[in-house]
Amino acid sequence: MFFLSDHDTLISSIEAIGASFAVFEFDPQSVAFELVSCNSRYEDLMGYSSAKALGQPLTTIFPRYIHNPLKEAFIHCKNERIALETEIVLDYKGQERCWRSIVSPIVNSADEKFRIIQTCVEITEKKVLEKQLNLSMKRFEAVVNNAYDGIITIDEQQNVKLFNEAAQSMFGYSEQEIMGQPLTKLLPEKYQAKHHGYVEGFKRSQVDSRPMQTRAAVQGLRKDGSEFAIEVTISKIRIADNVEFTAVIRDISEKNQLLEELILSSRRDPLTELYNRRYFTELLHSEITRSRRFKRGFSLLMLDIDHFKSINDRYGHACGDAALIAFSKAVTNSIREVDTICRWGGEEFLVLLPEIPKVTAMVVAEKIRKNIENLETIYEGDLIKVTVSIGLEYFSGDAIEMSSMINKVDQILYRAKDTGRNKISTEI
Ligand code: GH3
Ligand code: MG
Ligand code: MG
Repeated sequence: MFFLSDHDTLISSIEAIGASFAVFEFDPQSVAFELVSCNSRYEDLMGYSSAKALGQPLTTIFPRYIHNPLKEAFIHCKNERIALETEIVLDYKGQERCWRSIVSPIVNSADEKFRIIQTCVEITEKKVLEKQLNLSMKRFEAVVNNAYDGIITIDEQQNVKLFNEAAQSMFGYSEQEIMGQPLTKLLPEKYQAKHHGYVEGFKRSQVDSRPMQTRAAVQGLRKDGSEFAIEVTISKIRIADNVEFTAVIRDISEKNQLLEELILSSRRDPLTELYNRRYFTELLHSEITRSRRFKRGFSLLMLDIDHFKSINDRYGHACGDAALIAFSKAVTNSIREVDTICRWGGEEFLVLLPEIPKVTAMVVAEKIRKNIENLETIYEGDLIKVTVSIGLEYFSGDAIEMSSMINKVDQILYRAKDTGRNKISTEI
């Protein structure tokens, strides 16, 4: 509450803070608050000169759309004899300006007049900033919470400060469970020490954003203790003396698994599930290199099913397929783990037998021949039997080139064909 004797001091202090102010007097006859004095800043608020406004009631001075809130504040101030703070928004030819208004009762013991002093401070800029801040907060929240990637912020002590929804489903922690907790909770133990050093180094570096290059080495730790492959990009934010780190995390475990499956299936023949020609060629290449370096020999067998065409002709192609599958299994069961079989094409197969002398390779070849001879495949009630011809060649440490190696074993095989089939040949 102000007292009239303070008027001059009051005016000078209000002018000093750059406020608009006005004094209104209550007229009991017209039941209205009339303007009795105001400063030049108040003219700015009203939008016109005080000469036109003095003696006029509130409802004439101000546009209709703020009559009610203004009158309410003035009446409340009068009835309760208390100061009241409100915000008013005025339209100046399409441009909005916002003011904080404080109405206070003035007690004048000399006369019976009731007066109100209104001081207003413009807060348009603050409102605009607030609005912009609000908007960017909303945008930030929308991006963070709808992001497909996990987003995690840690402070300088490496405690979690932000953990978005994607991170929650990725790691299995709720926001409440992980907020304020050390980041190490999300890292497998073997990476914890390394990570600490990494963050410390990054903190000191001039670089503010860096992707983690070593993809395979980055692993996350879920709440249930399982580990998963992740891709991480980290940004550093410096505000005054504080440093924060924000990591964008992508779960690549599914991608890695798919990639692995793709690699594995690209090495296999879809019908027999044996290694295919392409992959076997790679293996044979490295076997030749190894054999040369260590002067260790290996044997190569070429297998060709005898009269296979007649199986197709007699029982159909599907039956031929079933026979090929059964044949592949039987050969696989006749060799060791270290030996490799591939489907070279059609009904031809190559078998690589490393680290054994020629006589042992002969024994293996004979075992294969015999197992195939005894193999009985039942297809739609028919008993299918096949035999196989095998070419065998032993390559010593100073091995020849791969293509001539395969040509040679092919020629040896045809010797087995030419000399009666269902047999093993070791020379051209
Ligand atoms: P040989 O004793 O001289 O080797 O006689 P063969 O009939 O086995 O030889 P040939 O090369 O004349 O015929 C091979 C047959 O193998 C012809 C081809 O249709 C069949 N074949 C190749 N690949 C497949 C396959 O994936 N499925 C089936 N069902 N048949 C196949
Ligand atoms: Mg053939
Ligand atoms: Mg054949």
